[in-house]
Amino acid sequence: MYKQPKIVVFLGPPGAGKGTQAARLAAALELPSISTGEILRRECQSETERGRRLRTLLQAGKLVDNSQINEIMETRLAKKDCRDGCILDGFPRTVEQAVYLDRMLGKLNMPQPIVFNFVVSAAELIERLERRRQCPTCGRTYRVNEQAEGPMFCQNDHSLLILRADDQPSAIRVRMESYEENSAELVRYYSGANCHRIAAGQAPAKVTMELFNALGLGHLNRQKAASGGQWSVVTC
Ligand code: AMP
Repeated sequence: MYKQPKIVVFLGPPGAGKGTQAARLAAALELPSISTGEILRRECQSETERGRRLRTLLQAGKLVDNSQINEIMETRLAKKDCRDGCILDGFPRTVEQAVYLDRMLGKLNMPQPIVFNFVVSAAELIERLERRRQCPTCGRTYRVNEQAEGPMFCQNDHSLLILRADDQPSAIRVRMESYEENSAELVRYYSGANCHRIAAGQAPAKVTMELFNALGLGHLNRQKAASGGQWSVVTC
């Protein structure tokens, strides 16, 4: 049966919970979740000139140039697993990237994106980022409790969890500034029927419910509630 492809874009500052929600939505819609941040972090590991340049930019919290990102996304969106759509977490981040995305979707005969703008206060974001730890092997993120002490390990593959270099306080400041600089224009670009504002300071389970309802997936919320299941928030 033909399924109308769905392109979902998540806009929002670092730490707004886009990654967590993208994973849940990807599982529900059976679509790939594409994070430009994750793609770039993988590229940073290569000991090439490009890898080194990216590492410096990411560690400083600065944005990678539009042309490089657009090229990465053009290759990624053309892959077979995006045939029915995808969830874009962290792309576009500038109007130039948004214009490029529209052009790419047109070429691929894909519909215009459904956009969710994750809004959350700066104080909450800083607290979340400082408490975020990531598994360098599988990329899963965790939120550490105030009382947590000593090294912590991934529940999936037992790797030692790390504080990402760009979650260090100095880089957080640069990332927030860069987000502020680009976001207003980007949100304006997407204003319209297909753009939804999400109060992302709420509990993650509530954010998931809002998202699913907006996408006509309310039945999944009801199924989850009926089974007594909670969306898990990983804490350690
Ligand atoms: P994220 O994991 O989405 O917070 O991204 C981590 C870092 O990757 C950002 O701070 C930027 O340096 C870079 N990055 C990710 N996505 C983009 C993008 N669409 N445009 C430019 N730089 C990006």
